[in-house]
Amino acid sequence: MAYENLKKQDKQIYAAITGEIKRQQEGMELIASENYVSRAVLEALGSVFTNKYSEGYPGKRYYGGQDFTDVVETLAIERAKKIFGAEHVNVQPHSGAPANMIAYNAVLQPGDTVLGMDLSHGGHLTHGHPLTLSAHIYNFIGYKTNQAGEIDYKQLEKLAIEHKPKLILAGFSAYTRKLDYKKFQAIAKKVGAISMFDIAHIAGLIAGKAIENPVPYFDIVTTTTHKTLRGPRGGMIMCKQQFAKAIDKSAFPGFQGGPHMNNIAAKAVAFGEALKPAFKTYAKQVIKNAKVLETELRKRGFEIKFGGTDYHMVLVDVFGSKGITGKQAEHALDEAGITVNKNMIPDDPRSPMDPSGIRIGVQAVTSRGMKEKEIKLIAGWIEEIVLAHDDKKVLAQIKKEVTTFCKKYPIYPAV
Ligand SMILES: *Cc1c(COP(=O)(O)O)cnc(C)c1O
Repeated sequence: MAYENLKKQDKQIYAAITGEIKRQQEGMELIASENYVSRAVLEALGSVFTNKYSEGYPGKRYYGGQDFTDVVETLAIERAKKIFGAEHVNVQPHSGAPANMIAYNAVLQPGDTVLGMDLSHGGHLTHGHPLTLSAHIYNFIGYKTNQAGEIDYKQLEKLAIEHKPKLILAGFSAYTRKLDYKKFQAIAKKVGAISMFDIAHIAGLIAGKAIENPVPYFDIVTTTTHKTLRGPRGGMIMCKQQFAKAIDKSAFPGFQGGPHMNNIAAKAVAFGEALKPAFKTYAKQVIKNAKVLETELRKRGFEIKFGGTDYHMVLVDVFGSKGITGKQAEHALDEAGITVNKNMIPDDPRSPMDPSGIRIGVQAVTSRGMKEKEIKLIAGWIEEIVLAHDDKKVLAQIKKEVTTFCKKYPIYPAV
């Protein structure tokens, strides 16, 4: 990537961008919410669509000059419909958190009750954490996982009957087991609640048909486009036709202003990629790699939460199994060139800033072409690093090995 103009005009930003390219190239990215987009997605993101205002929707805009914005937004919508079999799609949400806010605002009144998954049990901040705007507006009740580490459907049903929520929310950022769509749907139906699934983490696995598509089952499905789906940073909402108008009005003018059309163009490009056969191979490989990571870490004495993984990531109790905290593990891994994030485990006895666990995802390294063999090496490194976490010399030596290894898997060949 050339960046000739930046190089001439703004040396500081140029240096930061080239530094980041090197960091991404030489490091082992195992954060479960990140990925590498294609060059085509980057080109669309960096296009002149960033200059254009296009408040409204295709064919119904507030400003003129929409010949080409209508083309890209319509293509993004049509491709998303094709991938997920959705009745209605809105591709304007700027990211995952706004997509959820827009969905809530479309179907709820202030004070309404929502059932969402508890954050420490694998849910997401936007599903009712007290520090979020949505939690100030709506009344969130959290459900949890059971002893076996799976969603406690009995508790969910009990809470639903007790609290009569207007909305029941599924979706997670660390929970790793398949959701029983039918069971979930039946509980929502029993209490007359709207059902919503936030598939931010697993959208790419669904698009690649590696796990069953939940879109036909749920009233509303929200997602990010930049995690396993491997598109630009952004959000999207899919829904049944009966909610279409409310969702569109809630996105604009309800919550956002003009759509970021360069971003929507990049979403359309990513969706085009997700429709190709190669994306199915990718999604299947992601799950295979995650299974190998689970097995290899278990062999080395790490406890995997939720009884294992059906997706692209594992949640590891490093404190319980190795006596080092999530923060210490994150820090030691970082020093050795491997990036993960510390994470709460269900009913974590420790604090959110220094929890018991780390979350490890393989979707980004899979995009770089790593397979079972490479994942085994990674598991070995993770063990070595955790054991030697306060030995700077050992960590520096491993970093050298990791860097040399990562250079063999270019993120953008011949950057
Ligand atoms: C990542 C994530 C979000 C938030 O997405 P942002 O793009 O960071 O706003 C929302 N819900 C879930 C389940 C997520 O994993």
